[in-house]
Amino acid sequence: MIHEIQIKVYPDRLYDDEFILEQIYKELKLKRDKKLSYRIRKKSLDARKGRPKYLLSLLVGVDEVVQRDVDKLSIEYKEVHTRPSIIIVGAGPAGYFAALEAIELGLKPIVLDRGKDVRARRRDLKAIQQEGLVNPDSNYCFGEGGAGTYSDGKLYTRSKKRGKIIKTLKILVDHGAKEDILIDAHPHIGSNKLPGIISNMRSTILAKGGEVRFGTKVTDLVIEDKVCKGVIINEEEELLAGQVVLATGHSARDIFRLLDQKHIALEAKPFALGIRIEHPQALIDEIQYKQNPREEALPAASYSLVSQVDKVGVFSFCMCPGGLIVPAATAPGELVVNGMSLSKRNSPYANSGIVTALSNEELSSKGYGGIFGNMDFQAEVEQKMFEYGDGTQKAPAQNLIDFVNGQDMIDVGASSYIPGIYRAPLHELLPDFIYERLKQGLTTFSLKMKGYFTSEANVVAIESRTSSPVRIPRDHTSLEHPEIKGLYPCGEGAGYAGGILSAAMDGQRVVQAISKIYS
Ligand SMILES: Cc1cc2nc3c(=O)[nH]c(=O)nc-3n(C[C@H](O)[C@H](O)[C@H](O)COP(=O)(O)OP(=O)(O)OC[C@H]3O[C@@H](n4cnc5c(N)ncnc54)[C@H](O)[C@@H]3O)c2cc1C
Repeated sequence: MIHEIQIKVYPDRLYDDEFILEQIYKELKLKRDKKLSYRIRKKSLDARKGRPKYLLSLLVGVDEVVQRDVDKLSIEYKEVHTRPSIIIVGAGPAGYFAALEAIELGLKPIVLDRGKDVRARRRDLKAIQQEGLVNPDSNYCFGEGGAGTYSDGKLYTRSKKRGKIIKTLKILVDHGAKEDILIDAHPHIGSNKLPGIISNMRSTILAKGGEVRFGTKVTDLVIEDKVCKGVIINEEEELLAGQVVLATGHSARDIFRLLDQKHIALEAKPFALGIRIEHPQALIDEIQYKQNPREEALPAASYSLVSQVDKVGVFSFCMCPGGLIVPAATAPGELVVNGMSLSKRNSPYANSGIVTALSNEELSSKGYGGIFGNMDFQAEVEQKMFEYGDGTQKAPAQNLIDFVNGQDMIDVGASSYIPGIYRAPLHELLPDFIYERLKQGLTTFSLKMKGYFTSEANVVAIESRTSSPVRIPRDHTSLEHPEIKGLYPCGEGAGYAGGILSAAMDGQRVVQAISKIYS
């Protein structure tokens, strides 16, 4: 017989099998001669009251072996060398999961990416970090695995499609991620593990007959009679195929411009912009766990904050406990920050974006209207932050107290940001309406988390690549662009995903739509 039960365990007992079995016997009031098997379905940390503890949701088999849904799921990849081919532009989560889905469904994916493979890409990240040099085709957003590779690797999604989430997580586990991501309420991989997983995914694609080509920037689309027949690579090579999946991410501004030049419909899309805040991790642990130092078995504490300022959202975004702030610009002359962490989340810093929602109407009223108004605004703020500095990727920063009080009195402290931060009056540099909202939001957050408002925290600019400022429309059923047959906008850049997991699931969805043409 299978039972579903919940038990609570302190962090130091989490991997104590005997202890957990004992709890199960007690909870189910079973005699000790009964044979038990159990699988953890879900694991979440409850730090609201007293010593933090894990809540484990268990499937228990009494005198039988228990299996979770994911244990029953088997994914079979077909040989696709001679199957019909589809072009997938972008090797980010959307592109690679689309490619694997294609192989599962018997189609041959040809994945093109402007950047380099994960290993070669690392050299360009070093050049950004240490020399302030941004390669416009190989950086924290562009290259194999997309923005997802050197990201934090948090696998959260608002999607409720459990079956699809489980499949996506299983693919990650099959390619090297820890099994824990299948049960964690807040799964996380870490940027030291992601490159290996991504290159394993590439190996599967190649082994089954798909293609992956790096240094292949799509510079034009081949369109005849409103049908997309292929792409032009690096302005010279024509590549034709039945369908083109466009999964180029939120930072491929040249792709948005290209579509507009070709009179392919686009829309402005609301996004969010703000700063990244960085506290000592020990302080966040103390606030969240009431422990300093935190007990060894506990992960670095995180937080999630939301407030409304004049009916507009101000919220924490991509919080990275035990993480690092990284330079995420995609072209010289820009300054953009984002956050990541290693799998152990063991840096002494906790950073998070604190951003405010920006609607098309608001930006339009400030003179940034039309399809590219939001994108132009985003680029303008990034360029302003760069130009204020010394021509490197050093980021302007301000002590949190000074930022909120609108003054310039306290020096900035240490930071995880490798290019370095320098003291700057961000309260004056940021557009007024954004500064005012962030200031009020941070004031509210300080009331929600006692100790958050501290001179030990720095505010670093600018957090601007939260999601795409442009949407490429698509038909709800066929998932093609409504005007161009055979062109499939996909993932975060097209405006249909926000984050690794949702981009991956969108890639799968688009290929499922394409496969119907062949069935
Ligand atoms: C530092 C950082 C940390 C992040 N942390 C998290 C996190 O913890 N959790 C989370 O869910 N999300 C995180 N994100 C966001 C996440 O990475 C993105 O949501 C996700 O990668 C989007 O996937 P995508 O495939 O749609 O696009 P992308 O990942 O942006 O991939 C697009 C790909 O297209 C390629 N490309 C662009 N233009 C062209 C062209 N013209 N020709 C050929 N190729 C092209 C690019 O090189 C790139 O590889 C983070 C992002 C960054 C930068």
